[in-house]
Amino acid sequence: SSTQTAVQLGHRFADALPELSVPWQADEAPEPRLLALDEALAAQLGLDPAWLRTPSGLGFLTGTQVPDGARPVAQGYAGHQFGNYSPRLGDGRALLLGELGDWPATTDLHLKGSGRTPWSRGGDGLAVVGPMLREFVVSTAMHALGIPTTRSLAVVGTGRTVQRETGQPGAVLARTAASHLRVGSFQLVRATDDTDLLRRLLDHAVARHAPAAADAEVPALALYEHVVAAQAQLVAQWMLVGFVHGVMNTDNMTISGETIDYGPCAFLDAHDADTVFSSIDSGGRYRYGNQPLAAQWNLARLAEALLPLVHPDVDTAIGQAVAVLETFLPRYEAAWTAGMRAKLGLGEDADPALVTDLQALLDANHPDHTGFFRALGTAARGDAEPARQLVLDLAGFDAWAARWLAAHPDADAMDRVNPVYVPRNHVVEAALAAATDGDLGPVHELVEVLRAPYDERPGLERFSTPGPAGTYVTYCGT
Ligand code: AMP
Ligand code: MG
Ligand code: MG
Repeated sequence: SSTQTAVQLGHRFADALPELSVPWQADEAPEPRLLALDEALAAQLGLDPAWLRTPSGLGFLTGTQVPDGARPVAQGYAGHQFGNYSPRLGDGRALLLGELGDWPATTDLHLKGSGRTPWSRGGDGLAVVGPMLREFVVSTAMHALGIPTTRSLAVVGTGRTVQRETGQPGAVLARTAASHLRVGSFQLVRATDDTDLLRRLLDHAVARHAPAAADAEVPALALYEHVVAAQAQLVAQWMLVGFVHGVMNTDNMTISGETIDYGPCAFLDAHDADTVFSSIDSGGRYRYGNQPLAAQWNLARLAEALLPLVHPDVDTAIGQAVAVLETFLPRYEAAWTAGMRAKLGLGEDADPALVTDLQALLDANHPDHTGFFRALGTAARGDAEPARQLVLDLAGFDAWAARWLAAHPDADAMDRVNPVYVPRNHVVEAALAAATDGDLGPVHELVEVLRAPYDERPGLERFSTPGPAGTYVTYCGT
C-alpha cells in the first residue's frame, strides 16, 4: 500500500522561458514494466517507492499520467557538436516533466525516451533498455563516488519494440538534475539577439545555481565565474577517477556543474591520456587527456553567449570575460593537484614533485588506473608488490615509491578516495546484454556493488578486474 500524496510539479522554467519551452506530452507506454528504481533517491524527493511500482506510479515515471497542475515541456537548446554549431538541438527524445521541491532549490524531473518532439529532426524520439540502464548504472556510480551528476530515478521498459540495428526493447529513463540548463541553452538565446530573453535566462540560472551573483556588480560575469569554477572542479574529478565523458558538446555541459548525458562515456582501464571510447570521436577531440581543454573551449562559447550582459562595450565585455576564462586552467590544476595529493594520502605540504612524477610514471606505464591507485593503499601499508606488478618500469616505480613512503602516506585516507569498484566496461556490457534479454539480476547486482565503491568485499573480484586489453568502443544516442 502506498502513502503517496499528490505529487506537486512546478513549472518555473516553462513560465519564465516560454521561448525555450514547447508544451508537450509523452508517448503511450503500451506495457510499462519497472526495470530499475533508486529507492533512496525517490524517498529523498518525497516520492513513495511503493507507489512508484504501482500502475499509476509507472504512469508518472513514463510521463503518461501527469500530476494535476504540471506542465511538461520539451526544452530548446543549441550547441557545438564536435566543434560545429547546431542552431537547433533541444529535447528530441526528452521532456521536462517539472520541478520537485520549493523554488529556487528545485530538482528537475526529466524523461528520456518519451517520444518525438518538435526538436526530433530525423530521430524517432525513443530510447532502448541497454543505454538507459547504462545511464542508470554509470550515474549511480558517479554519485557514489562523490562526483556531481544528474541522477537516475528509474528506468521503465515501455513494452514497445524500437528499431535500431536490430529491434530492441524500448525504455524511458526518469532522471533528476539541479537543472537542465546547458551552455547550449545560452547559445540558443544569444543567437536570437533578444537581450531581454537572455536576461531572463540569466536571472533563472542565477536564482537556481548562483544566488549570490544576483547582488554582484555584473551578475552575468558572476554567474560565468561560478560555472567556470564548478566545471573546473567537475573535470578534475573526472580525471582523478579515470572517467571519459565521450561527448563533451556544449549542449552536454551544464550550468550547474553536474555531469550530464551518459552516452558513450566509459572508465579507463589502462591509464592513457589518448584513450577514446566513442565510435564517433575519430579525431579524439574528447579523449581522456583533452577533457580539461575541451571544457575550457566550451566555457569560451558560454562567454560569447553572455557578452551582451557583461558590458555594453564589446571589447570591455570580452576583456572581462576572458579574465574569468583564464582562471579555468589554474582552478582545474589546483583541484586536480589537491585530488592527487588525497589519492596519494599526502598532506598539503608534500613535495609537489611526488604528484607530477607519479603522473609521468602513469603516462609511461599505462597501469590499470583504478587498480593502481587502490594498490598504492596496500603499498602504504608496507606491501608494494600489488602496485609494482602493474608497471613495467620497476626502477622508476621503486625510486618514486621510496620518496613517497618517506612522506608517510595515510593508507586509510587513501582507501576513502581511491575506489575499488568503478563501472568496468566488460562488466557493464555483460549486465546490459543480460538485461536486454530479460535478466535484470546482473544489473541490479552491479548497481549494489557500485553504491559502495570504497568498501572492498570478498567475492566481488570480477567487479574490480580490468577487461581484456584492446579497444572498447561505445556508441552515442542509441
Ligand atoms: P546527445 O548526443 O544524446 O546529447 O543528443 C544530441 C541531440 O540529439 C539532442 O538534441 C537529442 O535530443 C537528440 N537525439 C538523440 N537521440 C534521439 C532520438 N532517438 N530521437 C530524437 N532525437 C534524438
Ligand atoms: Mg545531450
Ligand atoms: Mg603513452
